[in-house]
Amino acid sequence: MKKLSLHWKIIIGLILGIAWALLSSSLGWSEFTINWIAPFGTIFINLLKLIAVPLVLVSIINGVANIGDPASLGRMGAKTLSIYLITTVIAASLGLVLVNIIQPGKLIDEQSRIDNRISYEIWAASENLEIKDGINYLQNPEFFERAQRISELSRSELVEASENDRIASAKAATETVKESPLQPLVDIVPENFFFSLSDNTLMLQIIFFGIFFGISLLLIPNNKSKPVMDFMDSTTEVFLKMVDLVMQAAPFFVFALLAGEVGKMAGDDVSKVVEIFKGLSWYSLTVFLGLMLLIFAIYPLFIKLFVKKIPYRGFFKAISPAQTLAFSTSSSAATLPVTMECVEENLGVDKKITSFVLPIGATVNMDGTCVYQAVAVVFLAQMHMIDLTLAQQITIVMTATLASIGSAAVPSAGLVMLIIVLESVGLNPAWIAIIFPVDRILDMFRTIVNVTGDITVSTIIAKGEDLLNYKGIKNPTQTFDV
Ligand code: ASP
Repeated sequence: MKKLSLHWKIIIGLILGIAWALLSSSLGWSEFTINWIAPFGTIFINLLKLIAVPLVLVSIINGVANIGDPASLGRMGAKTLSIYLITTVIAASLGLVLVNIIQPGKLIDEQSRIDNRISYEIWAASENLEIKDGINYLQNPEFFERAQRISELSRSELVEASENDRIASAKAATETVKESPLQPLVDIVPENFFFSLSDNTLMLQIIFFGIFFGISLLLIPNNKSKPVMDFMDSTTEVFLKMVDLVMQAAPFFVFALLAGEVGKMAGDDVSKVVEIFKGLSWYSLTVFLGLMLLIFAIYPLFIKLFVKKIPYRGFFKAISPAQTLAFSTSSSAATLPVTMECVEENLGVDKKITSFVLPIGATVNMDGTCVYQAVAVVFLAQMHMIDLTLAQQITIVMTATLASIGSAAVPSAGLVMLIIVLESVGLNPAWIAIIFPVDRILDMFRTIVNVTGDITVSTIIAKGEDLLNYKGIKNPTQTFDV
């Protein structure tokens, strides 16, 4: 019998995981699922992250040292960052266009939108914010009573929100950004490298150290640098072998991961999942449409225009293991080792490119996150009857771009950074609670886009440097050859 390729096995694990979660919650077994199955999903993510951090370090050092001279490193670095920035701005603009056309926030009934608007005005007044778009329900006697009732309501909501750990810690995380305009730059330079290694959200610091180390390696005599470079090269091989080994068990791990995540959402009542989605369905569909357009139209168009060699189906066949893994883990950092293997082995991109472009991409290039942030902010404004001006929409493109660069490549990072985008246009950051119920599912889809975007850019850079040797693949299992 023909051997089933790995990505199919992962997809089967994924479907069985969802089916198990639904079945177990309808039978009242969700506690069993959460206690005895879900931990294997956590183990899987831990294993991948465990490999990702040291792999980023050695592969960046390798990548920089192999480029050969600091001048071409500078050229490639500038090219990489500019293309990443262009794709991110395209993503944010696409999100804005879609949300303005579909207007998912206006599909909510008028009464609730007016109530939402009044509660926004109460919040804005408590924050001393000036309301820009003209409607002011608080000064309208007709709405006075409603305002009083909502004021009570929103006060309790605000208390709840401030008690909410997620929001509080998210705020703390964004505080640094406010300190000084140069703070993000300061944050890239670690004062103690071992501290950076111990925290997965500090990937940019690891990249900085890797580039610095790699450049210095280039500048010392050959006989001194050779042993270090050989060591880095062999270590990279060891880490990639570790990925191979973990991936053999991926279908089972993905089953556990999905059973746990969906199980947690459903609790002991399956209909809850359906209810959650009904309320936010138009918003979710708008985000989903933007993400699908990027994956199936915009990236392939980029490949067709700038890479040419890789056919449409061949591209997806080559990267399907990375995409399925991105979906299952919701983390581009955890997916990175597999992304690197797919791009090297199946798309024929030289190691020199993958080891430099992909770790940077996983950390700073998040097109899926950017589409989602643009849609989310305008949707939330629409459901509160707030019309954003053109200038505010441009601010959204800029802050969503920066926020997606700043988002860590881990689950829900985009949701946390959404706070900055909301605040940039004077909206209430506590609103992230409204879209929170569907966020994990959307996170899975936007992570596929984040990873596909990195892969697309790496092929474009490889083509430009004449380091692309695509031969087509027969079977994606070839990538993992234990
Ligand atoms: N989970 C996403 C990633 O790792 C980031 C996000 O939350 O949007 O790529």
